[in-house]
Amino acid sequence: MFKISFRFLGIALLTMMYACTSTNQPSTTQNIEEKSIDIPQSKPKNIILLIADGTGLSQISSTLYYSDRSSNYERFKHIGLIKTSSASDLITDSAAGATSFASGIKTYNGAIGVTTDTIAVPTILEELSDIGYATGVVATSTITHATPASFYSHVKYRRMEEEIAVDLTNSTVDFFAGGGLNFFNKRSDKRDLLKELSSNGFEVSTSTITPTMAIDLSKKYGFLLAPEGMPKAIEGRGSFLEDATVLGLNYLSKDSDGFFIMVEGSQIDWGGHANDAGYLIGEMLDFDRALGKVLDFAEETKNTLVIVTADHETGGFTLSSDEGNYNKIKPTFSTGGHSGTMVPVFAYGPGSENFIGIYENTAIYHKIKELLNL
Ligand code: MG
Ligand code: ZN
Repeated sequence: MFKISFRFLGIALLTMMYACTSTNQPSTTQNIEEKSIDIPQSKPKNIILLIADGTGLSQISSTLYYSDRSSNYERFKHIGLIKTSSASDLITDSAAGATSFASGIKTYNGAIGVTTDTIAVPTILEELSDIGYATGVVATSTITHATPASFYSHVKYRRMEEEIAVDLTNSTVDFFAGGGLNFFNKRSDKRDLLKELSSNGFEVSTSTITPTMAIDLSKKYGFLLAPEGMPKAIEGRGSFLEDATVLGLNYLSKDSDGFFIMVEGSQIDWGGHANDAGYLIGEMLDFDRALGKVLDFAEETKNTLVIVTADHETGGFTLSSDEGNYNKIKPTFSTGGHSGTMVPVFAYGPGSENFIGIYENTAIYHKIKELLNL
């Protein structure tokens, strides 16, 4: 209701209201104008969920210190924090973390789209697909890795990547891009899932992806561009993440019902596990570039909700001063695993104001459903 009154009241009246009212409202004229322009409608048509695996505040801050460009994270106004513990552990893994986003439940570490009793639970991607949305998943890991898998697969344990590949082949996903070709064509059961994908309506490419390629709307698209994970950003992955994201948006946005896509910066987490700051920062800057493309799309279309978050922080990463030299940053790790620190959530577009505050990771799913009146 508050939002509706924003749209119909003049700036002068707003200025008066702000001049004499509450402390939790923006206090400058500039903020008021920005805010009134910023809220085109409250129900988004499209949802873009970006997961920067293993990204805490220090990883995000590295996009400020290690790039000449401004960070795309600075384009957000609505920011919150999530508590990331899983049902089994204080510190989550990526499977339980992604399942909480995808299905709104807390489960055990290692679980892909199943409850603590290993019962399959519907995912937001499946639910939206059922009511006509076009759907996609993009990752720089294998496309069968824990994070993307949690949106379309239901298995007891994350390492079951051959089973996960079967789930993807038979899923309602319309567009996917990532690594993991081996789980489709070098399988222990000798099934050729590339053939099965094409009989299920997929055009599969194992060589390249071009953001401007011609799209046939009667087809689904799958890109499997590496035998296992994609190469590291600092070792020549190129613009894969941006290109796959842009092509995915081009294709999925042709669906008049709206779309849902999950885009993962998978290897930020791997740089953290390796305690390799160069690897981590390279992945972070790559993710930030893809984020820029997503925000450009959302600014243009005005009906797209963008949510950026992480499943957990990895590495206990900090941007320390170098032995007391406050003019020099020394990236420092405190663990080879994950940490239990809260992680930020950034939201842009219709409904983005609902993502401020501190809440459980499972609330991301419930907030999306609420905004879509589901
Ligand atoms: Mg991941
Ligand atoms: Zn990890």
